Amino acid sequence: MQTLLVTGGAGFIGSNFVHYIMENTGCHIINLDKLTYAGNLTNLKSLHHQPRHTFVKGSIEDRTLLRQLLEQYRPDGVVHLAAESHVDRSINGPRTFIQTNIVGTFELLECVRDYWSNLDPDKKTSFRFLHISTDEVYGSLGAEGYFTEATRYAPNSPYSASKAASDHLVRAYFHTYGLPVLITNCSNNYGPYQFPEKLIPLIILTALAGQPLPVYGDGSNIRDWLYVQDHCSAILKVLTCGRPGEVYNVGGNNEQTNLQVAQAICHLLNTMKPGGNRDDFCELITFVKDRPGHDQRYAIDASKLQTELGWAPRESFATGLAKTVGWYLANLKWCEAITTGSYRGERLGLINGQ
Ligand code: NAD
Repeated sequence: MQTLLVTGGAGFIGSNFVHYIMENTGCHIINLDKLTYAGNLTNLKSLHHQPRHTFVKGSIEDRTLLRQLLEQYRPDGVVHLAAESHVDRSINGPRTFIQTNIVGTFELLECVRDYWSNLDPDKKTSFRFLHISTDEVYGSLGAEGYFTEATRYAPNSPYSASKAASDHLVRAYFHTYGLPVLITNCSNNYGPYQFPEKLIPLIILTALAGQPLPVYGDGSNIRDWLYVQDHCSAILKVLTCGRPGEVYNVGGNNEQTNLQVAQAICHLLNTMKPGGNRDDFCELITFVKDRPGHDQRYAIDASKLQTELGWAPRESFATGLAKTVGWYLANLKWCEAITTGSYRGERLGLINGQ
């Protein structure tokens, strides 16, 4: 693919994906992002003079802009990451999740369908629309079993319900209009550039501030963790080799309780000793009232992606977490810009490709 439209490329996974594509392909990326609180142009700072990266500030709900971008840049594919992504925010205010994740995906699908249906036959055949989704659409597991691509949808939060709805819309555009879509449902990601409201950066930064580390309930909820670079390699693999109309689960085979995650971070911080005189960061772990509708366990069976497309994650949880803690310690200014709010003023000459 020569040109790719990426939505949400200033967010956590999106910005990692943009860097991954710049480093591993010769592709030109049109990066469309609304720059909500979760979008951060500092993540893309090193691409300031990269001619293969064009940043456009705008919304997936804006049909006029979408049509203009598709006509102007004529992409060979779309990777759709733009979303409202934080479960707690969806509990406190579900409306924007419905608007962005469902209505926004619908508007994007409509514009891409128009564009795709008028492509010349070769480009029409090779075109792909990859929708990035979550394992949370499958609901909660007991102690046994794994989510497969055939698992029944049972979302429990407004976030996962809105992602489930968007997955269904994407699927419908394949079956109704023949749009060559693919869907990936991925487990929890971690790594550089993750907004500090999410568990791993929240624990790191709160520990460094010497404050109590909030862990929901008794800390026994289990998540399967995937290092974000491994997710990026899976996205590229599915985009280039996946079969249209198919769903691929992406996971890291790294099941951890939330308490284990908090403890592992504390042990890493203990060895790196950034806290000066603090002997054990684990002392800061504090259990807080559980989140309503909190799913007990997520675990992904990613064997379809592994056997069909030959993808495998590279990073173990131990190595990925050490890299992640190291990244946050080396990038405290990035974190500080978020806590002070100054990151929202960042423009860096990247807006609208200038
Ligand atoms: P994020 O919240 O860090 O980034 C989302 C990005 O989308 C932000 O840059 C934001 O500005 C942008 N955006 C929001 N509304 C927009 C709109 N209307 N138009 C254009 N841009 C808009 O999210 P993330 O963690 O990077 O997740 C990216 C995608 O991957 C999401 O679809 C999410 O559901 C999915 N996902 C995330 C995880 C995870 O662990 N983070 C796991 C599985 C799937």
